[in-house]
Amino acid sequence: MTSNSPLYENLERAKGFLARFSSSVTGHYINGKWQDTDDADTYDNIEPANNTSLGKVVAGTPSDMNSACEAAADAFEDWADMPGAARKKLLHHFADLIEQRADEIALVESSDCGQPIRFMKQAAIRGAANFRFFADKAPEARNGQSLFQSDHTNLTIRSPIGPVGIITPWNTPFMLATWKIAPALAAGCTVVHKPAELSPLSATLLADISQEAGIPPGVWNMVHGFGETVGKRLTEHPAIKAVALVGETTTGSHIMRQAADTLKRVHFELGGKNPVIVFDDADFERALDAVVFMIYSLNGQRCTSSSRLLIQNGLKDRFLNALKARVSNLRVGHPLDPATEVGPLVHRGHFEKVLGYFKIAVEDGACVAIGGHRRDDLGDGNYVAPTLFTDASNSMRIAREEIFGPVLTAIGFDDEQQAISIANDTDYGLAGYIWTKDTGRALRMAQKVQAGMLWVNSENNRNLPSPFGGMKMSGIGRDGGDYSFDFYMETKNVCIAHDTHTVPVMGR
Ligand code: NAD
Repeated sequence: MTSNSPLYENLERAKGFLARFSSSVTGHYINGKWQDTDDADTYDNIEPANNTSLGKVVAGTPSDMNSACEAAADAFEDWADMPGAARKKLLHHFADLIEQRADEIALVESSDCGQPIRFMKQAAIRGAANFRFFADKAPEARNGQSLFQSDHTNLTIRSPIGPVGIITPWNTPFMLATWKIAPALAAGCTVVHKPAELSPLSATLLADISQEAGIPPGVWNMVHGFGETVGKRLTEHPAIKAVALVGETTTGSHIMRQAADTLKRVHFELGGKNPVIVFDDADFERALDAVVFMIYSLNGQRCTSSSRLLIQNGLKDRFLNALKARVSNLRVGHPLDPATEVGPLVHRGHFEKVLGYFKIAVEDGACVAIGGHRRDDLGDGNYVAPTLFTDASNSMRIAREEIFGPVLTAIGFDDEQQAISIANDTDYGLAGYIWTKDTGRALRMAQKVQAGMLWVNSENNRNLPSPFGGMKMSGIGRDGGDYSFDFYMETKNVCIAHDTHTVPVMGR
């Protein structure tokens, strides 16, 4: 690496932004203040590119979480009563600050979770867009409906549900945190954020920005630490009225149990084993681009990744040959190198899990067409060679379990019916992708494939007003546009008589 290479420049700039995390312990942000870290238990936050520490982070306690929940409860009434137009202004200011710090956010996020910088640049910008979108909706969040009856008019009124808990994962932590927190704040809820322990840094930047933006104390609280301790306490705390989780399916089950005693509303965005179904008549090049992008971008650590390729047998050999050439060409490397397309996996434990599937695939009888090994040549980071399994069947573990790495399993099919039956033969139901030029077939498939989101002839293009979420073991509830307000708000019905009906009489 030369001193004027783009990687060198990014490493130097990242070093500047990361210095605060290596020189002092990263702590919680509660009630508008950074908490004292002197006597706190800590853990090392490990960098995926080299497995060395980026600095110490507080491993929060249930008592820390209690303080955050109480602060959110105390701040709730004033925040809920703030006019929507004022919240709109504050949230736009928040978005301005994200944009101003986009470079810092991207470099810190990339260093912390191993996602290539080329994708993380967009993550910061998308985070700002999430804030702007929901800022604009804040003034209308309380709007309801007028429902007419001959003797009564019903008015529906929406009000924020209360303080809410937001629990986020490590795969694209900044974007996902903004996606959940922006609508909660726009609705008038106060927030306690529990970021993933494996990627705590961009959540810290977000709390920083909330302070700088002038979000009132207690409206935004952030507690670091582990799911089993602080995460658990957040889901149990009686002041918290709803919990939004983005994470693994098993975590959703835990949270449902933990939150049962306080009867919280839950919204879960969980795992997936999403099919991309390519028919013989698909636009070959566009389908190929999308198949590669939707599993190998973001290191395959993406909930909507198309990890099962269902390819029609008439096209199979030609498509797989082209795919092999693309996969072997992917540039694996340091996440801060702008040329890198696939970076290191987030954590040693996750890396070992992904490597484990290479053995499982062979034992189950699949062919490792490309990859299937670690990339030792890249040093001590969690680097995996992008991998393609062929000759697979849908009953193999590589086709059933969420691997969450740059690993694709290809399965052939003969016709529409078989494609539907393979696509639906899974516990999950998050996303699906259909490639065909036959519109009727695309619509028939869209009716039958069991997934919360389907894209026809596209990768996962996002439209903020559209519903986002999964069926089956992939989740409960929908986010996006007004769907987010349905979750973060209560709907009240007010029934008003026209004084024309007969009131029932008793005991006169
Ligand atoms: P994870 O479930 O291990 O952790 C997610 C968060 O939950 C973390 O903050 C963790 O500390 C917390 N947590 C863990 N146990 C908890 C408990 N008992 N109580 C409260 N909180 C607890 O998930 P991960 O490994 O960080 O992320 C990867 C997973 O997230 C994958 O399964 C992926 O598919 C999923 N994901 C889903 C979507 C979606 O929109 N459906 C988006 C991104 C990621």
